[in-house]
This record gives sequence, structure tokens and C-alpha cells, in this order.
Amino acid sequence: MKKKVSAVLVLVLSVMLVIAGCGTGNNNGGNSANSNSNVAKDTDKQQNETEATSGASQASYTPIDQLKDKYDVIIIGAGGAGMTAALEAKANGMNPVIFEKMPVAGGNTLKASSGMNASQTKFQKEQGIDDSNDSFYDETLKGGKGTNDTEMLRFFVDNSADAIDWLDSIGITLNNLTITGGMSEKRTHRPEDGSAVGQFLVNGLLKNVQEQGIPLFVNAKVTKINETDGKVNGVTIIFNETDEKNITSDAVVVTTGGFGSNMELITEVRPDLEGYVTTNQEGSTGDGIKMIEALGGTTVDMDQIQIHPTVQQEKSYLIGEAVRGEGAILISKEGKRFTNELNTRDKVTAAINALPEKSATLVFDSGVRSRVKAIEQYDKMGFVISADTIEALAEKLEVPADNLKATMDTWNSSVSKKEDAEFGRTTGMDNDLSGAPYYAIKIAPGIHYTMGGVKINTNTEVLNKNGEPITGLFAAGEVTGGLHGQNRIGGNSVAEIIIFGRQAGIKSAEFIKVAK
Ligand code: ADP
Repeated sequence: MKKKVSAVLVLVLSVMLVIAGCGTGNNNGGNSANSNSNVAKDTDKQQNETEATSGASQASYTPIDQLKDKYDVIIIGAGGAGMTAALEAKANGMNPVIFEKMPVAGGNTLKASSGMNASQTKFQKEQGIDDSNDSFYDETLKGGKGTNDTEMLRFFVDNSADAIDWLDSIGITLNNLTITGGMSEKRTHRPEDGSAVGQFLVNGLLKNVQEQGIPLFVNAKVTKINETDGKVNGVTIIFNETDEKNITSDAVVVTTGGFGSNMELITEVRPDLEGYVTTNQEGSTGDGIKMIEALGGTTVDMDQIQIHPTVQQEKSYLIGEAVRGEGAILISKEGKRFTNELNTRDKVTAAINALPEKSATLVFDSGVRSRVKAIEQYDKMGFVISADTIEALAEKLEVPADNLKATMDTWNSSVSKKEDAEFGRTTGMDNDLSGAPYYAIKIAPGIHYTMGGVKINTNTEVLNKNGEPITGLFAAGEVTGGLHGQNRIGGNSVAEIIIFGRQAGIKSAEFIKVAK
């Protein structure tokens, strides 16, 4: 789903810009305009890998000299779930702090591309899409092979529309709808211009965090969650890899993301995945899982690791599902389709791996390109092959031109009949692929998302092995397991971090009020 530092760099710049423009400063230690040399260093290093492209400016996080010894709520990790939890904790009267180990905020959330799934939303209604929470529930459960935690899933779908409204209320409007694999309705909400959701979301959340004066410290790695007599009461952090400090709090919210960059852990739970590239940012190492296990927390589905079918291999860069959602097809080196491109990710991955070449090519036209803004970024990164005719594209791809021509003709006639006799595709067929120029991106599967993680309940309380909450400990987002079962639907992780991130902020605040 997410991360890389170049993106981070630009993001940082834009974020900081936002921050610099909006900072209010307050007695919680709100951001100041000081620059952060570590950020600049890191971002420079990885600039050529960046996917973020929006405006840039001077940005900064909270300076270390504003660190206090105590906060109401400590939030570990400044991805989408963490920033969302912080905003809700603050709105519910708390004084939260966010610690982020990387030089910038955003985590894997920054790399999210497709959008945020939600049902029965105002934007769907405005656009005449008659969706239901029940069908969102049923299709997600089917996609997860019936193994999803059904209580979590019910809470998730029933709170999805409200999460879209909440984002809209804080200036993050996701009103452009598309579809992802395994879904029957357009319920994937994107920014108005169709651009990738991750950077837009992270920028918007950071702006709000700044406006609310919530302190956000970067280069601040949490190494331990502390407790006394079974009650969580703070964390140990290391700043800039040197200075260690204990900070106390009444509650801790763990939003450290998944472990998709921890190849040691991945190959321990899934030896068959050795050698796969990963789309994950380098900070996704499963720290939260390890810290929670040390407190007696338990995990679920740790071996359920999602392989995304369309990853550009040289840069380990995810090519979002919206490309297929808006009409692209996949072809083999024979120039032929070989699967329903909008089947669930596990099935499309299996189909690619069944080809002798274990890789494939996305083919699309100028219409798809105009509808999916992320393609501009893919082009800037050198991934997009283009040609004025199908024959010329076939030549560049070194696939048989006759085959590719026949594939395109058959596909375009399937689109006009709304029936894919070959592979039974039923979605992403609003437009055919007849608008020159034509484009292609070579892909193969890559490690994308860790569906397993720590076990929580719908109050986001972290559970121990007996299913009892660990007092004062909450978690949300990719660090948790259960919601997605054995296969995550595209667009559901962004929904998860907002829905459960909000819940973690609200429930940790409630817990503190009751405890006091
Ligand atoms: P989610 O999608 O669940 O919000 P993300 O991957 O977007 O997850 O964000 C998780 C964030 O947590 C990342 O920015 C990551 O660098 C950060 N993080 C991970 N481990 C730690 C840690 N030990 N201390 C502080 N931050 C951490």
C-alpha cells in the first residue's frame, strides 16, 4: 500500500509548507518553524524515488526542546491511523503527542494509491450509486475468504460513511469514485482530481495536526511500552538514535503500521516469500507487534501477507489498482489476456505467477491515462512505454503484434457488450481502450501488506491471550490483524486507518476520563 522516502521528501516539504503556513503554536508544544536537517538529508538521499509531487515549502516538526515528561495519550507512529487517532483524542479533550521514528510523517499511508472504500456515502448518493453496507460487508468477507473478524468488519462497514464525512469536515474531500478488485460498486473514494489518495490524505491530516497544535516528534523511535501492575503508563523513546527518555501517559495508542519491510520476520512466517520485492517504506518493521507481544498481547493471521499483483520491479513501486479499475488490461508475453484483471489481488497474483515469465504488462489508452492522475507520476519515473498505434506498442513490448491487436479488438467489443466471455470480468468496463496513444507498464507481484497483526476489539483495545484488554493500551491500522482475513481488498486499508484510528482516539480519551 505505501511508502518511500523521496515521496517523503516532497511530502515533507509540502507538509512543512502547510505547517509553516498554518502553525498556531500552543502550550502543547505545537510545531515551530525550525528546520530539520535530518529530514533534508534523508529526503535528498531518496529524492529520485519520490512519488510525491505536490507543492513544496519549508516544513518542520515539533522541536525536541518542547518535549514534555507527560502527556494524556502517547501515539506511536505518524501514519494515517496515528494522526487520525491524535486528532480525535484532541477533539475529545485530551493532550496527545505523536512519536515517529522516521525523519518524516506519513508511513505507508503516504504510498496508498487507490483510495478509501466506504458505502452509503453522501458522495455515492450524489453520483447516483446505490450502495449498501451489507454488500460492502459481504464482498469484503468473500474477498477475505470468509476468515475476516466479523465483528471488526461489521463495525468497519457501518462506520465507513461517517469516516468519509469526518474527513470532508476537516478539509479532506474524497468525492471521486472508482472501483477496486472484488468490489461490485464504485465505493473507492479518491481526491476530486483522481490523484493518489496517500499524499493527499497525509498532507491533510498533517495540516490538521498542526492546526490543532498536536506535538509531532520525528526521529523519535519508541523502543518499549511501559507498564506497572498490568497498567500501561508510558513509553521509552530514543531520539536521533542516541538520547533515551521515558515519557509517561495515561494511555498509549500503537499505530506503527505493518512489517512489510522486515524480511527476517516475513521469511520466518512465510519462507516462500524470500526474494520478493516489497512496496513498503523502510520503517514498516513490525515494532508495535513486538512491543505489544512483550506486554502479553496476542497476534492473528501473521502468515497472511498480501502480494500486490502490479508492482514495478526495479523500483519496487506499486502501480495502483485504479489503473485497472479505470479500464486497463493485463497481457502476457504472448500479447494475450490471461485473467480477470479485477479479480481479488490474490487471484490476479496467482494468475501472473502461473505464466512461464511470472510477470505481465498493463496495457491502456489515453482515456485511462486521463482518468488516473497517478499515471503521470509513473511516467515521470520512467515506467510508462507509449506508442501511437497498437502495432508500435507491440513492437516496443516485444510481443506478437497480431496477438495484441486481436486482444485489444476482442476486449473493446467485450466492453461494448458489457460481457467478458473469456475471463468473466464485470467491472472497470465503463470505457474501452480505443483512444490513441497507447501505453504499457511492465509489472510483477511484490510484497505489499501484512494482514496479520495484534488482536484488538472494536473499541481498539489490545487483547491479551485470554481475550481481555490490556489496560490503557490501544492499537489501530496495519499493526492490527483480523479485519481483512486472508486477502485485503484494495481501498480497505485507508478506510481501516481512518475508521479505527478515529475509534482509538475516541476510546483512549474515554478510558482516561473514566480512569480519572
Ligand atoms: P497505518 O497505515 O497503520 O497508519 P503507516 O505505515 O502509514 O501505518 O504508519 C506507521 C508509522 O509508524 C510509520 O510512519 C512508521 O515509521 C512509524 N513507526 C513504526 N515503528 C515505530 C516506532 N518504533 N516508533 C515510532 N514510530 C514508528
